[in-house]
Amino acid sequence: MNIVLLGPPGAGKGTQGERIARELEIPKLATGDVLREAVRQGTPQGLEAKRYMDKGDLVPDSVILGIMKEALCRPDAARGVVLDGVVRTVPQAEGLARVLAELGRKLDVVLVFDVDEEELVRRLSARTVCENCQTPYTGRAPGSTCEKCGGKLVRRKDDEPDAIRTRMRAYRDQTSPVIEWYRARARDAALRGQSAARIVTVDAIGAVDEVTARVLTALGK
Ligand code: AMP
Repeated sequence: MNIVLLGPPGAGKGTQGERIARELEIPKLATGDVLREAVRQGTPQGLEAKRYMDKGDLVPDSVILGIMKEALCRPDAARGVVLDGVVRTVPQAEGLARVLAELGRKLDVVLVFDVDEEELVRRLSARTVCENCQTPYTGRAPGSTCEKCGGKLVRRKDDEPDAIRTRMRAYRDQTSPVIEWYRARARDAALRGQSAARIVTVDAIGAVDEVTARVLTALGK
């Protein structure tokens, strides 16, 4: 099953994506994680991406399309993949459709995480992540220890207030039109009697386990 997770920053795509991937036994691709690793390693791609990421701006589509294509062509992704934060612009959605078609595959589900902006700002401002394994925590101070790997918890640079505002704007202006793009495709396909990706909206407010249960029910699991 190929699934795209769509939703604003802080909606829980990473946490839920991890759980969905485990449940379906397929890999998860999070471009944010790939880019942060490239930044840590100081690769040319990382150095370019950092300029955008620190401010909360989107990294150019060409960079994302390269990462996406490489990940989808890996043998472990042949049974499907959970795409977390990957399709953030209409050109990326078009690129994904193209790559999947080239591989003889298709997108099955677009899972939209629904959360209001006030809640998101609250979550992001209280978030720290493990600098080693990236596990996110809410309400744990920077410098605390990660329960999973013993790494140090840090605040992401793009979780500072100015960057949060920029990321929200990027979501509103560039990513939310992607949902409408998928809806239009689904309508076109229905008119032609063809199938298209199912668009499912999930209420992403609540305890992590509750949201997971909603997500898995929505996926028919
Ligand atoms: P995330 O971890 O998903 O919140 O992503 C962190 C940052 O990485 C974003 O604010 C962007 O700067 C960049 N990024 C990650 N995925 C994408 C994408 N699909 N398109 C553009 N920029 C991205």
